[in-house]
Amino acid sequence: KGYLANIEKKNKTLNALTEVYEQEALAQAAIVQEKINKGNAGRLAGMVVTIKDVYCHEGHFLHCGSKILEGFKSQFTATPIQRLLDEDAIIIGRNNCDEFAMGSSNENSYFGPVKNAANENKVPGGSSGGSAVAVQSDMCLVSIGSDTGGSVRQPASFCGIIGFKPSYGRISRHGLTAYASSFDCVGILSQSVEDSALVLEIIAGADEYDHTVSHLSVPAYSKAPTWSGTFSVVSFDNINTHKALNPAVQSSVNKVFDKIESSGNKIQKLNFDYLNYVLPTYYILTTAEASANLSRFDGVRYGYRSSSAKDLESMYKKSRSEGFGEEVIKRILLGAYVLSEGFYDAYYTKAQKVRRLIRDEMKKLFETNDFIIMPTAPTPAFDLNSHDRDPLQMYLEDIFTVQASLAGLPSISIPNGTDEHGMPIGIQIIGNSFEEEKLLSFSKYLQ
Ligand code: GLN
Repeated sequence: KGYLANIEKKNKTLNALTEVYEQEALAQAAIVQEKINKGNAGRLAGMVVTIKDVYCHEGHFLHCGSKILEGFKSQFTATPIQRLLDEDAIIIGRNNCDEFAMGSSNENSYFGPVKNAANENKVPGGSSGGSAVAVQSDMCLVSIGSDTGGSVRQPASFCGIIGFKPSYGRISRHGLTAYASSFDCVGILSQSVEDSALVLEIIAGADEYDHTVSHLSVPAYSKAPTWSGTFSVVSFDNINTHKALNPAVQSSVNKVFDKIESSGNKIQKLNFDYLNYVLPTYYILTTAEASANLSRFDGVRYGYRSSSAKDLESMYKKSRSEGFGEEVIKRILLGAYVLSEGFYDAYYTKAQKVRRLIRDEMKKLFETNDFIIMPTAPTPAFDLNSHDRDPLQMYLEDIFTVQASLAGLPSISIPNGTDEHGMPIGIQIIGNSFEEEKLLSFSKYLQ
């Protein structure tokens, strides 16, 4: 009821939730209370959760922030969401997000922009902006977002909360609407590292519906102790002095370095030689995958169908042109282009090779180091509408988050102070594949 009251008070302005399951959540709470009384409640009993509008939840709307899915209801529940429900979590609503998770400011939603609760003239980041603001403003305890190239970490940084993207394949993607399948990760947004750890422990692990999910056993993440031993950290000079880096972000990174150095631990400062290639590689590969994944939205099988079509061909064309927003159309075109005959090898194949080089380079660093530390985003939250019509400036927001995504590595953003206007700034820690336990443990130490 407390969370519902907060939603009632704040959501009209912040627009973090596109749907609130008031009656359903209260009914579920009553069931959970009953179980608690009987002593047989699940491990998440009473945890109030929101889910990004990209997860299937049986019998509930699934819009992916798009007009093209208008009126569509899921026929099954995504594996991570089902696992939350099985442990008696309470789902209180669906989060607004950038259309099909494409964006860094949550301004690309058919349901309107989300506003940052720390300053309503600022964006919350994206694409899981609604999830971040719901946690930031106490509309729920935890939110399940998705992170393809930073969509959980960057909004967490902008909103002053934890944003956690585990290794690719740690959590089943069954029921998560695909954007770029070889990058997509289920991600967790919370106020504390402990809550993220507990939720990961519940939702991670093998699933017969996703053949890319790892069969590695799931450790007791919730029991990960605060890091206490020595460690060695890598940081990149060409990132820490990057021209896009805001001075407040720079000094917040330095604060972390001071803490590490004064504790007697080692920071190895290197240059990341592939830095100029991370964004082009990410945007070539993700748009290619998106153009294939989004071909299913054709006006026949899901949601919106144009009413002015004359024949089958024009029905496809008009439904897609009217149903998809500008950013999504741009990416489908770009993706179709890099996959087309004559350009495939020059763009797509080359980007695959560069992705491999980036991954190998990152993996090599973990042979002798425990963690990589860098800013989550080059800037704190920026003004609403300020990046309008400048896609390059918007894509630059992802420059520090796509690196871990290209390599499939686990990565977390934790709050690390504010700028001079009180806007939150996060710091990003990247760990080795499937070493989430270690990463969570270190996050508790650093925070
Ligand atoms: N901002 C990035 C993009 O638009 C990341 C999105 C995401 O992680 N879903 O592709």
